[in-house]
Amino acid sequence: MEQPYREVFWNISYSWLFYILAAVASLVFFYGIYKRAAFWMSGWSERRNGGVDLKRLTKKVLFTSGIFSDDIMGGTTHFLIMWGFIVLFLGTVLSTIDHWIFHFLEGKVYIVYSVSLDIAGAALITGIILAYVRRYIVKRKNMVTIVKDHVVLLLLLFIAITGFFMEGLRLHANPVPWSESRVAYRVVDAIFHGSRAHLLFEHRLWWWIHSISSLFLVAYLPFSKFIHIFAAPTNLTLDSMNYTSFLTLDEREKVTTDFSKHQLVMFDACTRCNRCQVVCPSSNAREPLSPRMMIEEVGNYARGASGIPFVSSKRDADQHDKATASLGDTIWYCTTCNNCYEVCPVGINTSDIIREVRAARIESGGEVPVNVQEMLESVYKFKNPWQGSKGKRMDWAEGLDVPVFSKGADSKRCLFVGCTPAYDTRLQSVARNVVSLLEGADYDFAVLGKEEACCSEFVREVGEDGLFTELAYQNIDLFERYGITEIVAVCPHGFHTLRNEYGLMEDSAKRLDVVHITEVLERLIADGRIKPTREVPLVATYHDPCFLGRRNGIYDAPRNILRAIPGVKLVEMPRSREKSFCCGGGGGRMWVESNADEKIAEIRVAEAVETGAEVVVTACPFCFSNLDDAVKTGGYEDKIKVMDVSELLAESVLEPGSS
Ligand code: SF4
Ligand code: SF4
Repeated sequence: MEQPYREVFWNISYSWLFYILAAVASLVFFYGIYKRAAFWMSGWSERRNGGVDLKRLTKKVLFTSGIFSDDIMGGTTHFLIMWGFIVLFLGTVLSTIDHWIFHFLEGKVYIVYSVSLDIAGAALITGIILAYVRRYIVKRKNMVTIVKDHVVLLLLLFIAITGFFMEGLRLHANPVPWSESRVAYRVVDAIFHGSRAHLLFEHRLWWWIHSISSLFLVAYLPFSKFIHIFAAPTNLTLDSMNYTSFLTLDEREKVTTDFSKHQLVMFDACTRCNRCQVVCPSSNAREPLSPRMMIEEVGNYARGASGIPFVSSKRDADQHDKATASLGDTIWYCTTCNNCYEVCPVGINTSDIIREVRAARIESGGEVPVNVQEMLESVYKFKNPWQGSKGKRMDWAEGLDVPVFSKGADSKRCLFVGCTPAYDTRLQSVARNVVSLLEGADYDFAVLGKEEACCSEFVREVGEDGLFTELAYQNIDLFERYGITEIVAVCPHGFHTLRNEYGLMEDSAKRLDVVHITEVLERLIADGRIKPTREVPLVATYHDPCFLGRRNGIYDAPRNILRAIPGVKLVEMPRSREKSFCCGGGGGRMWVESNADEKIAEIRVAEAVETGAEVVVTACPFCFSNLDDAVKTGGYEDKIKVMDVSELLAESVLEPGSS
């Protein structure tokens, strides 16, 4: 019995013409990829923090898990298109190997091969139809479609349908065993009733149409939205390698581009899926920031500035500064909450990009909000953003016996108080409670007192790298002088910066062990050194600070503290933990005015009120301050109040009036 197989170039004359066209398409393709790679490599190098997280990489790249989360239809659509495309592409590669290197596509192997291609073709067509259903019938929230999206989708659909049709014509004109069981054969059988000569002509015609459009796709790929096929896995790989985009001031002065290699890849990885926009607190508050547009716009400027042929868009290098300026104030609205990064299926860190744009703006002497300028001046002059004199930095501790390094305290562990708990009169009680709880637990520590300089987290986030570096080195010098090896940070912003960013600057900072106060309090409760005994009958909801949660993965420690307090009933807001909604205070936003009708923090407080909680608890002075203001401005004073975790714990542990 004859074995089923497919003869390549069956019924096709001038096959040499196909090879010439294929060679041209391949040349254009490789040239395009080469230019893309040149663009990516034109960025500066990041610092690497660790090895590759293979599990995360597999989940995100092969199973595209980021696309499925919260959007099953979008995930299914992409999965069908992606795997349909990959299998069909591999089918073409195998067919070429079969024709030129060794023949293996016959018999059962051929049957498996052809059925797989049929399934892949059907998956691709179904995926594209779903993409249109999602866009125009389901109308997913905030979905954005531009002409280029149609070009890509319709070209793919055309190639899939013509391939299917061409295969049916071939099976009809040149039947082999199993032909009749193929769907393509049956479709053509149902619609085609011409002579054999006509059949052969139609097959030739559609073979060339299919081949030319496929070769066009190959050539077009590096210059289209399809570039994300390469850029997205590259970006996710870099992301899983734990790179940090960080330059010291000296390094920044030497680089010739605003962006790192990783960041340049991000621009090409974006698929404009809009997930970032949906979760962005600034967009939610109807402020003019759009993370998706930001990536698109800044990406265009970066490509324009690169001047690389076929990468550089119409905007040339001269337009770069003009275009960056056109982003106007929007760059200051980002709270650096990283929610966009959390939901981005291809691992784009928009706040990282925005930080670089801010740094470029500051470096070029561009416009900076007045309040931000004043904050920077205050940090420069007083080492704190609140214009508090250096001499008043320990006022919070009045009446308490707090060990201070400069006064001879003998400890390797520093309680890093931070500027806001030190100077903000509403929050000084947080520092006092923390000290009383730690001392009550006989926990060894000391503070830097008046010598402590601002951690400068928001200085770095607004892009003032020079000032950040200066202040960071002042603190690092203090840590060295007093032989400090462990830091307990009261504020999540200080915790994040000392833990993740000081360590990038020099070896001594790398040796620091940095923990957040909630981790310490949780441990002391578990060890029985802090005993919450007094009942505090309250329904509480916990607001995850972005710099503790999303940025550093600490979700359970504060919740465990609350659960340990007798009488406290913990209820969760719909957006909590990784999905937590920002209070609007990070990334220097405390110093940026907004004209939006509703403040970000008011949206959050409304969400907390919805849970029926009497108190919204947090573990960050910035969140506390923002939420507390929102309770007042939003008219929620008779419904809910704001407390810090340590404050609630102190109510259960300390004697009233003892801190
Ligand atoms: S940045 Fe990420 S989440 Fe936002 S549109 Fe692009 S791919 Fe989607
Ligand atoms: S980091 Fe937060 S505020 Fe900034 S763009 Fe992303 S989601 Fe919006």
